[in-house]
Amino acid sequence: MTSSRPFNFSAGPATLPEPVLRQVAAEMLDWHGSGMSVMEMSHRGKEFGSILEAAQADLRELLVVPPHFHILFMQGGGLGENAIVPLNLSRGGKVDAVVTGSWSRKSAAEARRYADVQVAAEGDGRSIPTDWRLRDDAAYVHVCTNETIDGVEFHELPRLANGVPLVIDCSSHLLSRPIDWDRVGLAFGGAQKNIGPAGLTLVFVREDLLGHALDICPTAFNYATVAANHSMYNTPPTFGIYVAGLVFQWVKGLEYAGKRGLAAVEQRNIDKAALLYAALDASGFYENRVDAGCRSRMNVPFFLRDESLNDRFLAEAKAAGLLQLKGHKSVGGMRASLYNAMPLEGVQALVGFLKDFEARHG
Ligand SMILES: *Cc1c(COP(=O)(O)O)cnc(C)c1O
Repeated sequence: MTSSRPFNFSAGPATLPEPVLRQVAAEMLDWHGSGMSVMEMSHRGKEFGSILEAAQADLRELLVVPPHFHILFMQGGGLGENAIVPLNLSRGGKVDAVVTGSWSRKSAAEARRYADVQVAAEGDGRSIPTDWRLRDDAAYVHVCTNETIDGVEFHELPRLANGVPLVIDCSSHLLSRPIDWDRVGLAFGGAQKNIGPAGLTLVFVREDLLGHALDICPTAFNYATVAANHSMYNTPPTFGIYVAGLVFQWVKGLEYAGKRGLAAVEQRNIDKAALLYAALDASGFYENRVDAGCRSRMNVPFFLRDESLNDRFLAEAKAAGLLQLKGHKSVGGMRASLYNAMPLEGVQALVGFLKDFEARHG
Protein backbone atom coordinates (compact mmCIF):
# COMPACT_ATOMS: atom_id res chain seq x y z
CA MET A 1 0.00 0.00 0.00
CA THR A 2 1.40 3.41 -0.88
CA SER A 3 0.87 6.26 1.49
CA SER A 4 1.06 10.00 1.32
CA ARG A 5 1.68 10.29 5.04
CA PRO A 6 5.02 11.69 6.19
CA PHE A 7 7.55 9.41 7.90
CA ASN A 8 7.39 9.78 11.65
CA PHE A 9 10.62 9.18 13.62
CA SER A 10 9.15 9.87 17.07
CA ALA A 11 10.69 7.99 20.01
CA GLY A 12 7.23 7.37 21.43
CA PRO A 13 4.32 7.50 21.21
CA ALA A 14 5.46 6.46 17.79
CA THR A 15 4.46 5.56 14.28
CA LEU A 16 2.04 2.64 13.86
CA PRO A 17 1.51 0.41 10.82
CA GLU A 18 -0.80 2.21 8.42
CA PRO A 19 -2.93 -0.90 7.72
CA VAL A 20 -3.61 -1.13 11.45
CA LEU A 21 -4.67 2.50 11.65
CA ARG A 22 -6.97 1.99 8.68
CA GLN A 23 -8.54 -1.08 10.24
CA VAL A 24 -9.06 0.73 13.54
CA ALA A 25 -10.77 3.55 11.63
CA ALA A 26 -12.96 1.12 9.71
CA GLU A 27 -14.03 -0.71 12.89
CA MET A 28 -14.38 2.39 15.06
CA LEU A 29 -18.17 2.60 15.14
CA ASP A 30 -19.05 -1.07 14.86
CA TRP A 31 -16.61 -3.81 15.78
CA HIS A 32 -17.40 -7.01 13.83
CA GLY A 33 -21.14 -6.36 13.71
CA SER A 34 -21.40 -5.96 17.48
CA GLY A 35 -22.93 -2.49 17.13
CA MET A 36 -20.25 -1.15 19.49
CA SER A 37 -16.87 0.45 19.32
CA VAL A 38 -14.24 -1.55 21.22
CA MET A 39 -14.08 1.48 23.53
CA GLU A 40 -17.71 0.93 24.48
CA MET A 41 -17.60 -2.78 25.29
CA SER A 42 -17.64 -4.37 28.71
CA HIS A 43 -14.23 -5.86 29.37
CA ARG A 44 -16.09 -8.91 30.74
CA GLY A 45 -18.17 -9.49 27.61
CA LYS A 46 -17.47 -12.24 25.09
CA GLU A 47 -16.47 -9.74 22.36
CA PHE A 48 -13.66 -8.17 24.33
CA GLY A 49 -12.79 -11.55 25.81
CA SER A 50 -12.04 -12.82 22.32
CA ILE A 51 -9.89 -9.74 21.57
CA LEU A 52 -7.82 -10.18 24.73
CA GLU A 53 -7.38 -13.91 24.22
CA ALA A 54 -6.25 -13.52 20.61
CA ALA A 55 -3.83 -10.72 21.51
CA GLN A 56 -2.29 -12.84 24.30
CA ALA A 57 -1.99 -15.92 22.12
CA ASP A 58 -0.46 -14.01 19.19
CA LEU A 59 2.06 -12.27 21.42
CA ARG A 60 3.02 -15.57 23.06
CA GLU A 61 3.47 -17.13 19.63
CA LEU A 62 5.46 -14.21 18.17
CA LEU A 63 7.93 -14.01 21.06
CA VAL A 64 7.87 -17.76 21.77
CA VAL A 65 7.04 -17.06 25.42
CA PRO A 66 7.40 -20.29 27.43
CA PRO A 67 4.39 -21.60 29.38
CA HIS A 68 6.00 -20.84 32.75
CA PHE A 69 5.83 -17.12 31.96
CA HIS A 70 2.66 -15.10 32.49
CA ILE A 71 1.85 -12.31 30.04
CA LEU A 72 0.17 -9.44 31.87
CA PHE A 73 -1.60 -6.49 30.29
CA MET A 74 -1.21 -3.68 32.78
CA GLN A 75 -1.18 0.11 33.09
CA GLY A 76 1.34 2.53 34.54
CA GLY A 77 3.96 2.49 31.79
CA GLY A 78 7.68 1.86 32.12
CA LEU A 79 7.95 4.40 34.90
CA GLY A 80 5.14 2.68 36.78
CA GLU A 81 7.00 -0.60 36.47
CA ASN A 82 10.07 1.04 38.01
CA ALA A 83 8.07 0.95 41.25
CA ILE A 84 5.86 -2.07 40.56
CA VAL A 85 8.85 -4.38 39.97
CA PRO A 86 10.55 -3.71 43.33
CA LEU A 87 7.16 -3.79 45.08
CA ASN A 88 6.67 -7.30 43.73
CA LEU A 89 10.15 -8.77 43.52
CA SER A 90 12.54 -7.07 45.94
CA ARG A 91 11.06 -8.47 49.20
CA GLY A 92 12.47 -5.26 50.65
CA GLY A 93 15.97 -6.65 50.20
CA LYS A 94 18.77 -6.12 47.73
CA VAL A 95 18.52 -5.06 44.10
CA ASP A 96 21.48 -4.69 41.75
CA ALA A 97 21.14 -2.20 38.91
CA VAL A 98 23.26 -1.82 35.81
CA VAL A 99 23.19 1.78 34.61
CA THR A 100 23.70 2.16 30.88
CA GLY A 101 21.84 5.42 30.33
CA SER A 102 18.93 7.64 31.31
CA TRP A 103 16.23 5.02 31.71
CA SER A 104 18.19 2.55 33.83
CA ARG A 105 19.36 5.43 36.01
CA LYS A 106 15.72 6.38 36.62
CA SER A 107 14.81 2.79 37.39
CA ALA A 108 17.57 2.49 39.98
CA ALA A 109 16.50 5.72 41.67
CA GLU A 110 12.86 4.65 41.91
CA ALA A 111 13.69 1.16 43.21
CA ARG A 112 15.69 2.80 45.99
CA ARG A 113 12.38 3.82 47.59
CA TYR A 114 11.61 0.14 48.22
CA ALA A 115 14.88 -1.74 48.27
CA ASP A 116 18.59 -1.62 49.00
CA VAL A 117 19.79 -0.71 45.50
CA GLN A 118 23.40 -1.03 44.46
CA VAL A 119 24.63 0.24 41.11
CA ALA A 120 26.52 -2.82 39.91
CA ALA A 121 28.13 -1.03 36.97
CA GLU A 122 27.74 2.34 35.31
CA GLY A 123 28.34 3.11 31.65
CA ASP A 124 29.14 6.40 29.94
CA GLY A 125 26.00 6.45 27.80
CA ARG A 126 27.95 5.25 24.76
CA SER A 127 28.89 1.73 25.76
CA ILE A 128 27.84 -1.15 27.97
CA PRO A 129 30.04 -1.41 31.05
CA THR A 130 31.83 -4.65 31.81
CA ASP A 131 32.80 -5.90 35.29
CA TRP A 132 29.46 -5.94 37.05
CA ARG A 133 29.68 -6.11 40.85
CA LEU A 134 26.77 -8.44 41.52
CA ARG A 135 25.59 -9.63 44.91
CA ASP A 136 24.60 -13.29 45.14
CA ASP A 137 21.81 -12.46 47.59
CA ALA A 138 20.18 -9.78 45.44
CA ALA A 139 16.49 -10.31 44.69
CA TYR A 140 17.07 -9.36 41.05
CA VAL A 141 19.33 -7.49 38.66
CA HIS A 142 17.80 -4.66 36.64
CA VAL A 143 18.98 -3.85 33.12
CA CYS A 144 17.51 -1.58 30.44
CA THR A 145 18.10 -3.53 27.26
CA ASN A 146 17.52 -0.60 24.94
CA GLU A 147 18.30 2.89 26.18
CA THR A 148 15.86 4.95 24.17
CA ILE A 149 17.53 8.29 24.87
CA ASP A 150 21.18 7.26 24.61
CA GLY A 151 20.76 4.79 21.76
CA VAL A 152 22.55 1.93 23.52
CA GLU A 153 21.21 -1.61 23.01
CA PHE A 154 22.13 -5.01 24.40
CA HIS A 155 22.42 -7.28 21.36
CA GLU A 156 22.77 -10.24 23.68
CA LEU A 157 21.24 -10.58 27.11
CA PRO A 158 23.66 -11.19 29.97
CA ARG A 159 23.68 -14.69 31.41
CA LEU A 160 23.81 -14.23 35.16
CA ALA A 161 25.95 -16.96 36.65
CA ASN A 162 24.64 -16.58 40.18
CA GLY A 163 21.04 -17.54 39.39
CA VAL A 164 19.68 -14.14 40.41
CA PRO A 165 16.69 -13.24 38.18
CA LEU A 166 17.31 -10.69 35.46
CA VAL A 167 14.69 -7.96 35.05
CA ILE A 168 14.74 -6.17 31.73
CA ASP A 169 13.12 -2.90 30.77
CA CYS A 170 12.69 -3.59 27.07
CA SER A 171 10.15 -0.81 26.44
CA SER A 172 11.73 0.54 23.30
CA HIS A 173 12.76 -2.66 21.55
CA LEU A 174 10.04 -5.05 22.66
CA LEU A 175 8.82 -7.08 19.66
CA SER A 176 11.65 -5.81 17.45
CA ARG A 177 13.67 -9.01 17.98
CA PRO A 178 13.37 -12.31 19.87
CA ILE A 179 13.93 -12.50 23.64
CA ASP A 180 16.16 -15.17 25.17
CA TRP A 181 13.74 -16.27 27.90
CA ASP A 182 16.30 -18.60 29.47
CA ARG A 183 18.12 -15.52 30.70
CA VAL A 184 15.13 -13.49 31.89
CA GLY A 185 13.00 -13.51 35.03
CA LEU A 186 10.80 -10.56 34.14
CA ALA A 187 10.49 -8.26 31.14
CA PHE A 188 8.39 -5.15 30.87
CA GLY A 189 7.66 -2.48 28.33
CA GLY A 190 5.16 0.21 27.48
CA ALA A 191 3.20 -0.30 24.26
CA GLN A 192 3.77 3.13 22.78
CA LYS A 193 7.07 2.34 21.03
CA ASN A 194 6.52 -0.80 18.96
CA ILE A 195 3.12 -2.11 19.89
CA GLY A 196 0.26 0.37 20.11
CA PRO A 197 -1.10 3.45 21.84
CA ALA A 198 0.19 4.68 25.19
CA GLY A 199 -1.63 3.34 28.24
CA LEU A 200 -0.92 -0.37 27.86
CA THR A 201 2.07 -1.91 29.63
CA LEU A 202 3.22 -5.44 28.90
CA VAL A 203 4.76 -7.58 31.60
CA PHE A 204 6.21 -11.07 31.14
CA VAL A 205 6.91 -12.68 34.49
CA ARG A 206 8.23 -16.10 35.38
CA GLU A 207 5.80 -18.10 37.47
CA ASP A 208 8.18 -18.64 40.41
CA LEU A 209 8.62 -14.89 40.93
CA LEU A 210 4.95 -14.35 41.80
CA GLY A 211 3.60 -14.21 45.31
CA HIS A 212 6.27 -12.19 47.13
CA ALA A 213 4.82 -8.67 46.87
CA LEU A 214 5.35 -6.25 49.72
CA ASP A 215 2.26 -5.47 51.84
CA ILE A 216 2.25 -1.92 50.56
CA CYS A 217 1.99 -3.06 46.92
CA PRO A 218 -1.32 -1.83 45.46
CA THR A 219 -3.54 -4.84 44.77
CA ALA A 220 -4.08 -3.77 41.16
CA PHE A 221 -0.28 -3.84 40.69
CA ASN A 222 0.33 -7.16 42.42
CA TYR A 223 1.50 -9.45 39.63
CA ALA A 224 0.03 -12.52 41.36
CA THR A 225 -3.39 -10.87 41.51
CA VAL A 226 -3.18 -9.63 37.92
CA ALA A 227 -2.09 -13.08 36.72
CA ALA A 228 -4.76 -14.94 38.71
CA ASN A 229 -7.39 -12.66 37.16
CA HIS A 230 -6.03 -12.94 33.59
CA SER A 231 -5.25 -9.19 33.45
CA MET A 232 -8.87 -8.48 34.43
CA TYR A 233 -8.59 -7.73 38.14
CA ASN A 234 -9.45 -4.17 37.24
CA THR A 235 -10.51 -2.81 33.86
CA PRO A 236 -7.59 -3.30 31.51
CA PRO A 237 -6.76 -0.68 28.84
CA THR A 238 -9.20 -2.27 26.42
CA PHE A 239 -8.69 -0.06 23.38
CA GLY A 240 -4.91 -0.31 23.65
CA ILE A 241 -5.11 -4.10 23.87
CA TYR A 242 -7.31 -4.15 20.77
CA VAL A 243 -4.85 -2.02 18.77
CA ALA A 244 -1.92 -4.08 20.06
CA GLY A 245 -3.72 -7.21 18.90
CA LEU A 246 -3.99 -5.79 15.39
CA VAL A 247 -0.29 -4.91 15.47
CA PHE A 248 0.53 -8.51 16.48
CA GLN A 249 -1.48 -9.73 13.49
CA TRP A 250 0.39 -7.28 11.27
CA VAL A 251 3.76 -8.55 12.55
CA LYS A 252 2.70 -12.16 12.01
CA GLY A 253 1.88 -11.42 8.39
CA LEU A 254 4.88 -9.24 7.56
CA GLU A 255 7.19 -10.62 4.88
CA TYR A 256 10.67 -9.34 4.19
CA ALA A 257 13.82 -10.78 2.63
CA GLY A 258 12.30 -14.25 2.42
CA LYS A 259 11.34 -14.21 6.09
CA ARG A 260 8.02 -13.88 7.84
CA GLY A 261 6.69 -12.60 11.15
CA LEU A 262 9.13 -11.59 13.88
CA ALA A 263 12.10 -12.81 11.82
CA ALA A 264 11.04 -10.50 8.99
CA VAL A 265 10.56 -7.58 11.36
CA GLU A 266 13.98 -8.18 12.91
CA GLN A 267 15.75 -8.44 9.55
CA ARG A 268 14.06 -5.27 8.37
CA ASN A 269 15.14 -3.51 11.57
CA ILE A 270 18.73 -4.70 11.08
CA ASP A 271 18.76 -3.40 7.51
CA LYS A 272 17.14 -0.07 8.40
CA ALA A 273 19.63 0.61 11.19
CA ALA A 274 22.62 -0.45 9.05
CA LEU A 275 21.54 1.94 6.31
CA LEU A 276 21.28 4.91 8.65
CA TYR A 277 24.48 4.24 10.63
CA ALA A 278 26.43 3.75 7.41
CA ALA A 279 25.23 7.12 6.13
CA LEU A 280 26.11 8.85 9.40
CA ASP A 281 29.55 7.22 9.61
CA ALA A 282 30.38 8.02 5.98
CA SER A 283 29.72 11.70 6.58
CA GLY A 284 31.98 14.23 8.22
CA PHE A 285 28.92 16.38 8.76
CA TYR A 286 26.95 14.14 11.13
CA GLU A 287 28.04 11.82 13.92
CA ASN A 288 26.68 9.06 16.13
CA ARG A 289 28.79 8.62 19.28
CA VAL A 290 27.76 5.16 20.46
CA ASP A 291 30.21 2.23 20.38
CA ALA A 292 29.64 0.14 17.27
CA GLY A 293 28.92 -3.05 19.25
CA CYS A 294 25.97 -1.64 21.19
CA ARG A 295 24.33 0.79 18.80
CA SER A 296 20.56 0.60 19.00
CA ARG A 297 18.58 -0.63 16.03
CA MET A 298 15.60 1.30 17.31
CA ASN A 299 16.85 4.70 18.44
CA VAL A 300 19.65 6.45 16.59
CA PRO A 301 20.81 9.67 18.23
CA PHE A 302 23.03 11.79 16.02
CA PHE A 303 24.54 15.24 15.96
CA LEU A 304 25.28 17.83 13.33
CA ARG A 305 28.88 18.86 13.84
CA ASP A 306 27.72 22.41 13.31
CA GLU A 307 24.93 22.62 15.85
CA SER A 308 23.97 26.12 14.73
CA LEU A 309 22.22 24.34 11.84
CA ASN A 310 19.93 22.31 14.13
CA ASP A 311 16.79 24.42 13.75
CA ARG A 312 17.20 24.67 10.00
CA PHE A 313 17.74 20.89 9.80
CA LEU A 314 14.53 20.18 11.68
CA ALA A 315 12.48 22.68 9.67
CA GLU A 316 13.73 21.35 6.34
CA ALA A 317 13.24 17.75 7.45
CA LYS A 318 9.66 18.49 8.40
CA ALA A 319 9.07 20.19 5.06
CA ALA A 320 10.46 17.06 3.39
CA GLY A 321 7.96 14.86 5.25
CA LEU A 322 10.35 13.61 7.96
CA LEU A 323 8.79 14.28 11.35
CA GLN A 324 9.93 14.37 15.00
CA LEU A 325 13.68 14.07 14.52
CA LYS A 326 14.58 16.34 17.42
CA GLY A 327 16.80 14.67 20.00
CA HIS A 328 15.82 14.24 23.63
CA LYS A 329 16.28 17.46 25.55
CA SER A 330 18.84 15.89 27.89
CA VAL A 331 21.27 15.05 25.07
CA GLY A 332 20.30 17.51 22.33
CA GLY A 333 21.03 16.93 18.67
CA MET A 334 18.79 14.64 16.66
CA ARG A 335 17.29 11.22 17.13
CA ALA A 336 15.69 8.97 14.56
CA SER A 337 13.59 6.16 16.01
CA LEU A 338 13.22 3.26 13.61
CA TYR A 339 10.55 1.15 15.26
CA ASN A 340 8.90 -1.84 13.61
CA ALA A 341 6.31 0.26 11.80
CA MET A 342 8.94 2.44 10.09
CA PRO A 343 9.30 1.07 6.56
CA LEU A 344 12.66 0.79 4.81
CA GLU A 345 11.49 3.58 2.49
CA GLY A 346 11.30 5.91 5.49
CA VAL A 347 14.96 5.33 6.29
CA GLN A 348 15.91 5.65 2.62
CA ALA A 349 14.09 9.00 2.55
CA LEU A 350 15.92 10.11 5.70
CA VAL A 351 19.30 9.09 4.32
CA GLY A 352 18.54 10.95 1.08
CA PHE A 353 17.62 14.01 3.07
CA LEU A 354 20.81 13.79 5.18
CA LYS A 355 22.94 13.78 2.03
CA ASP A 356 20.96 16.56 0.43
CA PHE A 357 21.11 18.76 3.52
CA GLU A 358 24.85 18.17 3.83
CA ALA A 359 25.35 19.04 0.15
CA ARG A 360 23.56 22.32 0.63
CA HIS A 361 25.01 23.30 4.00
CA GLY A 362 28.23 21.31 4.42
C1 LIG B 1 9.52 5.08 27.05
C2 LIG B 1 10.32 4.35 28.06
C3 LIG B 1 9.95 4.30 29.41
C4 LIG B 1 8.83 5.13 29.99
O1 LIG B 1 7.60 4.70 29.71
P1 LIG B 1 6.33 5.50 30.26
O2 LIG B 1 5.22 4.80 29.58
O3 LIG B 1 6.47 6.94 29.89
O4 LIG B 1 6.30 5.33 31.73
C5 LIG B 1 10.71 3.53 30.28
N1 LIG B 1 11.79 2.86 29.84
C6 LIG B 1 12.18 2.92 28.56
C7 LIG B 1 13.39 2.16 28.13
C8 LIG B 1 11.47 3.66 27.63
O5 LIG B 1 11.86 3.72 26.35
